[in-house]
Amino acid sequence: MKEYIIVRDNMPRTIVSVSKKHNSVWRMYYYDIDDDDNTWKFYAEKINPLLVWFYKLKKKKKCNNICDICSKEFRFWKSRFDKMPNQCEECNPDLFQT
Ligand SMILES: [Zn+2]
Repeated sequence: MKEYIIVRDNMPRTIVSVSKKHNSVWRMYYYDIDDDDNTWKFYAEKINPLLVWFYKLKKKKKCNNICDICSKEFRFWKSRFDKMPNQCEECNPDLFQT
């Protein structure tokens, strides 16, 4: 099953975790498109502790839903404040970016 990201977020990377381990520095973990070969890759990056709340808001969860139009299950990444899409990428490509 392919995975999609909701287009409305203007930040291209998909943050999946923001955490601090063993009292050390805060890091965010995210997927982003590698310009060289155009594939999604996983990254970890140190972040400013003052911006932790910001990255937490941007964090995304993997979700499933059933498409209103074709009734197929589809999968996508969503942040807490994104609206749940009711149509899949094939029926409504404008909602998503690959
Ligand atoms: Zn559909």
